[in-house]
Amino acid sequence: MTWMVAPIFVDSIDTALTHIHAARQAGAEALELRCDRTGPQDLETLLRHPQVRQGRVIVTVRSAEEGGQFTGSEEERLSLLALSCRGRPDFVDVEWAAWQRSAQWRRVLGQLIAPWGSGPDDQRPRLIISRHDFSGPPRYPEAELAELAGVPEASILKMAFRARSVHDALTALRLYEIARRLGPRPLVSIAMDEAGQISRLLAGKFGAAFTFAASPGHGGTAPGQPRLTDLKGVYRLDRQRADWRVFGVVGWPIAHSLSPALHNAGFAALDFPGVYVPLPIAPGYESFAAAVDALRQWPQMNLGGLSITIPHKENAYRYLRERDGTMDPTASQTRALNTLFFRAEGSLGGLNSDGVGALGALAEALCIAPAGLSQYRVAVLGAGGAARGIVAALAACGASIVIYNRTLARAAELARAFAGAAGKITAAPLQDFRHTTCQIVINCTPAGMTPNVETLPLPPGASLRPDMVVFDTVYNPRETRLLRLARQCGARTVEGLEMLLRQAAVQFEGFTGQRAALNAMRQAVSSAHK
Ligand code: NAP
Repeated sequence: MTWMVAPIFVDSIDTALTHIHAARQAGAEALELRCDRTGPQDLETLLRHPQVRQGRVIVTVRSAEEGGQFTGSEEERLSLLALSCRGRPDFVDVEWAAWQRSAQWRRVLGQLIAPWGSGPDDQRPRLIISRHDFSGPPRYPEAELAELAGVPEASILKMAFRARSVHDALTALRLYEIARRLGPRPLVSIAMDEAGQISRLLAGKFGAAFTFAASPGHGGTAPGQPRLTDLKGVYRLDRQRADWRVFGVVGWPIAHSLSPALHNAGFAALDFPGVYVPLPIAPGYESFAAAVDALRQWPQMNLGGLSITIPHKENAYRYLRERDGTMDPTASQTRALNTLFFRAEGSLGGLNSDGVGALGALAEALCIAPAGLSQYRVAVLGAGGAARGIVAALAACGASIVIYNRTLARAAELARAFAGAAGKITAAPLQDFRHTTCQIVINCTPAGMTPNVETLPLPPGASLRPDMVVFDTVYNPRETRLLRLARQCGARTVEGLEMLLRQAAVQFEGFTGQRAALNAMRQAVSSAHK
């Protein structure tokens, strides 16, 4: 089983104990005591403390070169590590370069640790031999891992490097396969930063010895580190198995996405053997296609499907077309996909569930069946992927639509695509919204989305009317500036969260072949918003 390790910087005993308590409460199975700034006396006291000894303990003392804050000499560092070994933690973590560099380190620590393979009677701490690279991924990852495996005393091997893209996270995860070929010693392989986050979130599936997670009230010690509560509660680290299918949401940026909370809650409710992760992929078709190819072509990943968000919906459509995938009629009409499926036999499929989700939310707010929307004039703000899906669904209901967009040509092209629909569909420059007579306004732009929460999608001088229904597809924050404005003027409002939930339910059913556990999903997004 992969343990969750909470890293704790030990500045003072009292603060460390507060963090240790929070970490244990949040489910940490082990602590990594970062003793870079700890005096010998405090270290001895801490290692004897009953609260510390309740679970596994790793001790490390890192120099600046290793990303740590120890400022003394190498002799002093060795003596602190030796002292910690005598306090009998479960592990000491030593950087490979320091171990290699000094025969004295190998001799002193070699006598104080239990070598790999020694029995449980040997109470001495075991050695984690690790390698950190804060500049980027290793040039020769296999060779570097083989060097770690060349330390016979080490009981756990650990590689950690800075990730620049999802490809680097895959490099980290592939090292588990290579480590198994090198022998039975467990590995921890981490790609740091947001781009590498899946190397942490999928640690259970790939059989990592442990992974780090931040305890409540403690920012963690490395970028991209998830929270203990999320790793266990959202990503079900303790349940993951090698054969689990992986799903995810592709976008840029993606850290704000509620989709992982939502889909993982649905998976958990059905006990579905799968996990859903955020996948930050830089804008541009080339980067999208290369990342999706790499993820789906690696059999061990067992990629089942992807949700697609800004700025990749049109890229997903092109991707599927170029690979002869099948798609639903709305998707081919909108030329934007929000979902890709990867079937076990290798075929690809796609759909766009944005329109169905949006219409469901809108019709419910108006207490009408979606077909009743034919009686309404709808202002759609924006002409991107979300707008396309929503216009297609509204057009199918016979609604009259005006597409307002900053770039008029883009709005005109979208209106032309639905020229034969029952309702009238026209395009207008965004500033014309000031004179709109529409009864329903749907924001399909990212204006107002975190972090740009003060941005409005409306042109300067535009106002809303009390007889309007204002629907913001942006769901983060839940109450956007546009919705606030609408409420203040007495208009009815529809939150993007409702659309998110309904479009996700359609994706979920495609991913799992089962009905979406809507209540569990709704609860998860509501609490993720608090
Ligand atoms: P997209 O393809 O990038 O299109 C964005 C559109 O917004 C473009 O037409 C763009 O105009 C316009 N735009 C961008 N910034 C603007 C600004 N500051 N003021 C006015 N117009 C602006 O994006 P998308 O995929 O359609 O997504 C748009 C929004 O829908 C996002 O906020 C997303 O969160 C939301 N969404 C929500 C759900 C849900 O389930 N609730 C689902 C899907 C999408 P130009 O053409 O002039 O560049």
